Amino acid sequence: MKTLIVNQSAVAQLLPMRECIAVMEQTLTALARGDAVQPLRSVLRLPGDGNVLGMMPAYLAHPAAAGIKVITVFPGNQSAGYESHQGAVLLFEMQNGRLLSINDASAITAIRTSAVSAVATKLLARPDAGDLAILGSGTQAHGHLEAMLIARSIRRVRVWSRTLDHARAFAAHASRQHAIAVEVMETAQQAAAGADIICTVTAAREPILRGEWIAPGAHINAVGSSIRATRELDTRAVVQSRLFVDRRESTVNEAGDFLFPKQEGALGDEHIRGEIGEILAGRIAGRVASDEITLFKSLGLAVEDVASAHHIFLRAQERGLGDWVEFGGARDSAG
Ligand code: NDP
Repeated sequence: MKTLIVNQSAVAQLLPMRECIAVMEQTLTALARGDAVQPLRSVLRLPGDGNVLGMMPAYLAHPAAAGIKVITVFPGNQSAGYESHQGAVLLFEMQNGRLLSINDASAITAIRTSAVSAVATKLLARPDAGDLAILGSGTQAHGHLEAMLIARSIRRVRVWSRTLDHARAFAAHASRQHAIAVEVMETAQQAAAGADIICTVTAAREPILRGEWIAPGAHINAVGSSIRATRELDTRAVVQSRLFVDRRESTVNEAGDFLFPKQEGALGDEHIRGEIGEILAGRIAGRVASDEITLFKSLGLAVEDVASAHHIFLRAQERGLGDWVEFGGARDSAG
């Protein structure tokens, strides 16, 4: 039996952002319809400041596939020159449970997270939203710029990052890559002021975006905090927004951006208007007024990783990419 190994550069070739956005739309709709099974992720704390090992399994009915992402998150990796997220997405087929592929999880996570934010932005940002602020300058910042350029006609891009030189490097690289001027701001407030779309993509533990800075009619993708102990948004930013999430169950268990305001008594579970998949399935409305602030709280879901791995597996066979290795599964007939 053979298993396909798909490395970082092959994932990037086989999961272009536009295709991933379409796959995420289908996947989030399927999740909302109950065509997927996804337990809460399990997170093992490791020695070191904020280091964890996460295990994220999921089953999809259409296409029939199961899988798991096994990933370490080492927030300090940036200075060491490694991605902060490292690991693999394993994809299994559903007839005999064979392991079909092992995929680079850094690349899948980078692309699918940005693609999901694009789905949310297409649904929730004002149609004329063209002024983009990115808070953060790492892997997710790059992916989110690419995704936002697809989701809306972006006219202006501002970036802020904790380390000014990182914001400058991001702006230089992104301006070249996308042929759009990226302005570097010295404060998050300067970046967010008047923006139509704000993406928070930092590993901050305390709020870096305050409600009072956010213009009426803005849409926010809050992506950087995926655990209950950290948040990027202050309480006011969440309370004043119409809140949509990737998954309710995950939000009430894992989202510091939601749980800190809840612990303060500023909001309850009813503040969650619904899941992105519920909007896609036509069950709930998205934006209902041009001056309201919409907020998408992203935590990242295993179904997104498994659906990405499935898409990659199909494309890899069409294009002859990836490396096949002999890998278990067959009974030893001589035995
Ligand atoms: P990178 O390591 O590439 O970048 C980290 C970014 O966070 C940098 O811009 C850095 O700023 C900034 N940062 C780090 N610490 C702080 C702080 N204390 N205050 C303000 N900014 C800070 O990480 P990624 O881009 O891969 O990931 C960004 C965040 O998104 C992480 O927290 C990650 O866990 C989360 N994530 C969420 C996903 C989801 O599905 N919702 C999926 C993947 C990642 P600088 O370099 O300027 O110091």
